[in-house]
Amino acid sequence: MEISSERLAANYRLLAETEGSETSVLAVVKANAYGHGAEICAPVLASAGAGWLGVTDATEGRLVRAALHTAGIPEEHQPHILVMSESLDEDTEVILQHRLAPVVSSAAQLQALAHKAGNRKVRVHLEIDTGMSRQGVAPGNHLDQVLRWLEQQSAVHLDGVMTHFASSEVAGSHQTAQQRRLFEQAMEQIAASSLRPVWIHAGNSSTIDNHDAPSEDGWLVTLAHSVGARAMVRSGLALYGYALPIERERGYTGLAEPRVQPRLLPVLTWKARVTGIREIEAGTRVGYNGTFTSERPMRLALLPVGYADGLRRELSGTQEHPGGWVLLHGQRAPIVGRVSMNLTIVDATAIPAVAVGDEAIVLGEGITAEDHARLAETISYEILCGMKETRMLR
Ligand SMILES: *Cc1c(COP(=O)(O)O)cnc(C)c1O
Repeated sequence: MEISSERLAANYRLLAETEGSETSVLAVVKANAYGHGAEICAPVLASAGAGWLGVTDATEGRLVRAALHTAGIPEEHQPHILVMSESLDEDTEVILQHRLAPVVSSAAQLQALAHKAGNRKVRVHLEIDTGMSRQGVAPGNHLDQVLRWLEQQSAVHLDGVMTHFASSEVAGSHQTAQQRRLFEQAMEQIAASSLRPVWIHAGNSSTIDNHDAPSEDGWLVTLAHSVGARAMVRSGLALYGYALPIERERGYTGLAEPRVQPRLLPVLTWKARVTGIREIEAGTRVGYNGTFTSERPMRLALLPVGYADGLRRELSGTQEHPGGWVLLHGQRAPIVGRVSMNLTIVDATAIPAVAVGDEAIVLGEGITAEDHARLAETISYEILCGMKETRMLR
């Protein structure tokens, strides 16, 4: 897997420019940078100007912190690191040692954190559950409890308040509108407290892409200013060059054009080299269970990749149901038979020059994560996160 540092940096800058100077963009490198390698992507994003990185958990945060050091970025210039999944008690030591900012959502969690921290200061981001029913505290009494707890001590500092939208790729979404109202309610409660968070953040890549989104109409900036904070949006998928299509809420007639999608550049190219060439007669069965049978003499090329590496088995191809393809000498070579654990067979009959050692593109320009996702009936997120090949920065 080749990771283009230029494209990654260009995507980050595009997102930051689209948001403008009033809103920061947190670069999400969780899930090993969506399969791209968090340790190689984090320093690139830091150099491109990211002041915040988002990781899955404390362990990934520690790896990213170490990678920033290794890249020679001085401590004081390193981005802040947000631990996005709620942590367990036993993660606290790593969080404190590596100066990570955990997402929290209950007074009990805060209590445990403060207990472990002793006299060390810890900055937290409080998640508000505005409708995902996943993480976060609901506005109202529960939020008030947490705010009272925070006000009465000094070890834990409320650095940020955040929420996450469930339908940010839907223009005119009723659900987003409802979530906005609840986040506004939370902000009123915070304004009424003595707490002054530095960051208010919400939304993801689609939030930036969607014309109708909270960051676009100044809603988030206004909300952040209402508590004296700065606005931030968190972007993952778009950094890596992919985006969900913008959908429309039923009956919505406003703008639904993506703002950044056409200008995003795929960052990852997955290559494999041909390890075998084989000529077969008509009527020969290919691969597990012989699901493909040749109808004419064929030239097959073997690639040393399979589902163990993240090449989805749904890309298998039969005569009736063509599957995925790779690019050999710039031409499409369809996958024939079942994708196996570490091996895949492609039809190179139309590309007679192909020889052992030649490079095939398994995913990248000409065959994208969206193509793989369509065939595997999933989303590009899952395809990218499933990549397990060795990564190198280009
Ligand atoms: C993963 C995640 C993001 C980034 O989402 P993308 O759609 O990849 O931009 C933002 N915020 C939270 C809370 C997330 O979990």
